[in-house]
Amino acid sequence: MSMSDEKIPYKIYLEENELPKQWYNVRADMKKKPAPLLNPATGKPCTLEDLSRVFCEELAKQELDEDTPYIDIPKEIQDFYKMFRPSPLVRAYFLEKKLGTPAKIYYKFEGNNTSGSHKLNSAIAQAYYAKKQGLKGVTTETGAGQWGTALSMACSYFDLDCNVYMVKVSFEQKPFRREVMRTYGAKVTPSPSTTTEVGRKILEEFPGTGGSLGCAISEAVEAATTKEGYRYVLGSVLAQVLLHQSIIGLEAKAAMDKYNIKPDIIIGCAGGGSNLGGLISPFMGEKLRGEADYRFIAVEPASCPSLTRGTYAYDFCDTGKVCPLQKMYTLGSGFMPSPNHAGGLRYHGMSATLSELYDQGLMEATSVEQTAVFAAAEMFARVEGILPAPESSHAIRVAIDEALKCKETGEEKTILFGLTGTGYFDMYAYGAYNDGKMSDYIPTDEEIAKSIANLPKIEG
Ligand SMILES: *Cc1c(COP(=O)(O)O)cnc(C)c1O
Repeated sequence: MSMSDEKIPYKIYLEENELPKQWYNVRADMKKKPAPLLNPATGKPCTLEDLSRVFCEELAKQELDEDTPYIDIPKEIQDFYKMFRPSPLVRAYFLEKKLGTPAKIYYKFEGNNTSGSHKLNSAIAQAYYAKKQGLKGVTTETGAGQWGTALSMACSYFDLDCNVYMVKVSFEQKPFRREVMRTYGAKVTPSPSTTTEVGRKILEEFPGTGGSLGCAISEAVEAATTKEGYRYVLGSVLAQVLLHQSIIGLEAKAAMDKYNIKPDIIIGCAGGGSNLGGLISPFMGEKLRGEADYRFIAVEPASCPSLTRGTYAYDFCDTGKVCPLQKMYTLGSGFMPSPNHAGGLRYHGMSATLSELYDQGLMEATSVEQTAVFAAAEMFARVEGILPAPESSHAIRVAIDEALKCKETGEEKTILFGLTGTGYFDMYAYGAYNDGKMSDYIPTDEEIAKSIANLPKIEG
């Protein structure tokens, strides 16, 4: 196979006038909608007023809007997108050749910006609506730092104050991301901290703790709701984030339509579900409306398997139990992946929209072990040149496995996967893999059952 015997270019870009001007809200085409968010204080569905206390008002409206299929992307956001969009849709000719597969593999690469991931697509939208509301700033949490980095870039563009609560162990062990955030003007606080009541309480109870994402969320929410002119923003899981991330799928679909390419299988890694939801949304819309059919595959780590081994029920979105309750596939809000888990995607639950689509059998899910994920990452880096994020490599693993199945059957399937970002800040994890020191850990049924036993008792 050579690159020249195909009419398809190695990279398909869209022209500026072909870029999407609206996001697509897949909930509008779902006959059975995701279950409503519940107010943790009352147990009743969240109202606009409830959500607007925590989130920017326009974002709260987007969160509750399950009927409008297309929502205009404000001009200012379209302009910002031009700095790093369209993202390329790449035909993985070199990977196909390496695998000797008749399958045609495409990937949509979202790592081409300083934050190194797709998260900037939603960060800029959230910062825009905060600015438009006249707020002084936003607060958020970050673990490994991808979301905090993206948000700090977005806030500096709109001259907004950006307060990031960063899990203390990451703050200390990942100084590079911390400094990228500070370079963009963010204030980065190691969590737990003494700046919030919940932080002080946790420090008293567990002096010397390295912190956790759940704790950082609780601090960020407290900081937003107790300070005049601030709101809390979140980088995944919520319907508003899937909406903003639909730019990935809209661009991918427009690029494929341009060359009459129809994917058979669409694959994405799934942490909270935002990149996967964004990638599949327009294709899923066609499936829901009966216009086309596709196979969708969510890929999660075997060490944090919310879709494949979780329970579909109402649960807390955070360990501190301050955020709205969401019906989703969950391992329980107290679930902690094993400490040797290095591949990201550590969230205990899954987007409510994706959970509902999965429950209706419209999407498949599979889980993969981290050594197999890093083996796929290494092969991809060596033949395609891009050093992928460990998260993204979950999708690479399953794309390779599907392409190898085609090799056996001789089928020329077209595979599309989301390459969400680059892995330059994950070199400790790559180091463990290179040294042969990486191991796989799969939680036992008992461990999962123990965590599930603490789900809130809510019918739904
Ligand atoms: C955050 C992140 C993910 C996972 O988040 P989703 O919301 O599930 O998309 C995947 N890849 C990269 C590079 C990330 O930074």
